[in-house]
Amino acid sequence: MRIAEIRPHVLRHDLERHFQSAFSTFATRWACLVEVICDDGTVGWGECLGPSAPNAALVRAMAPLVIGRDPREIEPIWTEIYNQFRDQGQRGATMTAQSGIDIALWDIAGKAAGAPAHRLLGGAYRAQVPAYATGGFRPVGRDRDEALAEELAGYRDAGFTACKIKIGYGVDVDEASIRLARDVLGPDIALMIDANHGYDAIEAIELGRRCADLRLAWFEEPVVPELLDAYVEIRARQPIPVAGGETWHGRTGFAEAIARRAVDILQPDVCGCGGITEMRKIAWMAETAGIRVTPHVWGTGVALAASLHMLAILPPTPPRHAERGPLLEFDQTYNPYRAEILVNPVAQSGGMVAIPQGPGLGVEINRAALARYTVEG
Ligand SMILES: [Mg+2]
Repeated sequence: MRIAEIRPHVLRHDLERHFQSAFSTFATRWACLVEVICDDGTVGWGECLGPSAPNAALVRAMAPLVIGRDPREIEPIWTEIYNQFRDQGQRGATMTAQSGIDIALWDIAGKAAGAPAHRLLGGAYRAQVPAYATGGFRPVGRDRDEALAEELAGYRDAGFTACKIKIGYGVDVDEASIRLARDVLGPDIALMIDANHGYDAIEAIELGRRCADLRLAWFEEPVVPELLDAYVEIRARQPIPVAGGETWHGRTGFAEAIARRAVDILQPDVCGCGGITEMRKIAWMAETAGIRVTPHVWGTGVALAASLHMLAILPPTPPRHAERGPLLEFDQTYNPYRAEILVNPVAQSGGMVAIPQGPGLGVEINRAALARYTVEG
């Protein structure tokens, strides 16, 4: 079995309703999938987090290092790509591109073995995971708090037991939105806030202190991810557990954040941190340091499936009868790639999502749906 071709697919969909995080306006949903095709006809799928055109270009640049090799040599292939791109790589787009290739190789290895990826990774601790709804962005052209109340009521009624909303628009307006969210969700649904690094340390500490009475489960990306000392300071000077990591890459990037105890909750993204191969090592480092892992997930059904295999293999920490998690991040903003491109989409029921049990990632691509959104590939 040899790798014959690597094909990036860039997907584009212009959104009818635009929405904003602290620093971005989402008018278009982009995605970059990676299809790895073997000489025996086996196909694997992966996904790259972040800007699609650079990811696709880098995947094409990496392909000659991989074509002709046995796709099950996953660690040697990972190391070869990393070594060849190290001098201008290590973090950023080289790692997000490499992640997409790596995930596709795990899909192929599972298909070749007739086993789900989580079994090849050492075995699953669980068959399902609780999911939290990600949403609560600021809609363009509509009152934010009115939209937020309506959206959160929908998640509550759909059975979610945890929700995350976006902040980072300003301390005063954010505090009001968080109080509204807690009112709508009631006391029993977990609530998290994500500033998408829209604050500086002074604002983050102020917001955290003001919201001390609201039982917030975590305060995600309060400040830009480069400022590890600011993360440490925010952890020390306000009461909400601090989360981050969706833009950190590779073992070395995460090792620095873990060593400095920059966060209470680490959020590697399997499509960004270096793929399944690298995320497993990052998760083990976090476990060794006693730092909780709650993966970041953003993208298509392929990203969701790959993340579910990682969630399956995270050891129960601490060990006890009633397990705490781990939680799946389940974005609920409009994204046709989440379900449409899969024959068997990932779905939640009563706030729980099943770990895929089919070979590889356990998902099948709907080629007709994929073609509707493909602009390159
Ligand atoms: Mg985030």
